[in-house]
Amino acid sequence: MKNLYFKCGTMGSSKSAQALMTAFNYRQKGHNVLLAKPSIDTRDGKDIISSRIGLSAECLVFDRAQNLVQFVQDNGGADVVIIDEAQFCTKQQIDELKQLTLKDIVVICYGLKTNFKSELFEGSKRLLEIAEDVQEFGAVCRCGNRATLNARVVDGLVVTTGEEIQIGGDEKYEAMCYECYQKYQHEKIED
Ligand SMILES: [Zn+2]
Repeated sequence: MKNLYFKCGTMGSSKSAQALMTAFNYRQKGHNVLLAKPSIDTRDGKDIISSRIGLSAECLVFDRAQNLVQFVQDNGGADVVIIDEAQFCTKQQIDELKQLTLKDIVVICYGLKTNFKSELFEGSKRLLEIAEDVQEFGAVCRCGNRATLNARVVDGLVVTTGEEIQIGGDEKYEAMCYECYQKYQHEKIED
């Protein structure tokens, strides 16, 4: 059996860049790498993983109804599977990724730990439950503290209600420490 890894963090903690560098390293050593992400993330177009520091690469996409054991098989198999935005996977899909490790496939998932309400995403929760190895990337809050939460900011205020996934709205996201996350719910951010 190989391991299931979860490498999580807030927005801006370089997860996508890490995913791309890991894929590059494995490929350089001759491994057959399958790079994919859930199709719910359309930030970069349908089949590109891109990071804020400028790296990008093509990837496969799957939707929430797809069986990931089948998905890997249908795409020619792999010995390393790397998933970006893994928080958007279903619980079932994380269990399927774990099944892949029983077939001697290394599975490395990158994703956000919590949503803008400071609660675990479905995929992240399951990963924390069953991954053999969990690593958390740090990001820095505007105040200099370690950022641990993802704030949704609308008109300068942190909001904590609404749908988990909002597409095409006016909101922005910002990694914050707990103190700022609380403070800016009542006090407008001056940029
Ligand atoms: Zn702060």
